[in-house]
Amino acid sequence: MNIILLGPPGAGKGTQARILVEKHAMIQLSTGDMLREAKDSGTEMGLRVARVMAEGKLVTDDIVIGLIEEKLKGDSGGGFIFDGFPRTLAQADALDELLENCGQSLAAVVEMRVDDDALVSRITGRFTCGNCGEVYHAKTKQPKDDGICDQCGQSEMKHRADDNEESLRTRLMEYYKLTSPLIGYYYAKGKLKPVNGLGEIDAVAAEISEALV
Ligand code: ADP
Ligand code: ADP
Ligand code: ZN
Repeated sequence: MNIILLGPPGAGKGTQARILVEKHAMIQLSTGDMLREAKDSGTEMGLRVARVMAEGKLVTDDIVIGLIEEKLKGDSGGGFIFDGFPRTLAQADALDELLENCGQSLAAVVEMRVDDDALVSRITGRFTCGNCGEVYHAKTKQPKDDGICDQCGQSEMKHRADDNEESLRTRLMEYYKLTSPLIGYYYAKGKLKPVNGLGEIDAVAAEISEALV
């Protein structure tokens, strides 16, 4: 079963993707994570995208489509979770084509609905484990021992350079301008499953599980 998690920055896509990976052995494909890896590895592409990401603008379609294309050649496990992809109609069209070419299809698009006020506190409080990628929050999801990851025991907590109010404003604008048309697109295809993203993490996970039956 291949699914898309669709929603504005901070909606909880990464958090829910990790839960689905644990529950159903699905494979999380986060273009944000892939781009940050490219950035950290200092490749030419990484350097090109670094400034665009820091500003909160979208990286060009061909770059992210290329990254996804590579991953689709690999193991599909219990299905792919597209997290943060597609973000434009051109990316959505490309995904349809890529899936068709490898004999796969899309089961559902989970739209995570969260209002903008909540997004500001989610984004400004977010930090992640630099070792295993577990996502935390200063108020709503703290590790049991301060600064130490519950999952892997390392103390390499990181705060994203683009997780500030100014960049978030640009990211939200990009979301409404370029990504939100995908809601109508997938609704028309009969794939859209809206869920309330404002509940607690476990409650949202339960709602997603129900939507996917
Ligand atoms: P968030 O967790 O805030 O939704 P991501 O980690 O998914 O953010 O993405 C971080 C940044 O990486 C985006 O602001 C954008 O610059 C870039 N990016 C990620 N995915 C895409 C994509 N599918 N298309 C274009 N740019 C992307
Ligand atoms: P996205 O991938 O959509 O940008 P994340 O999963 O990274 O979102 O979540 C953004 C922040 O909000 C993180 O700090 C995360 O711990 C926190 N968070 C995620 N889901 C919830 C929730 N249901 N309630 C409260 N905080 C949440
Ligand atoms: Zn960790």
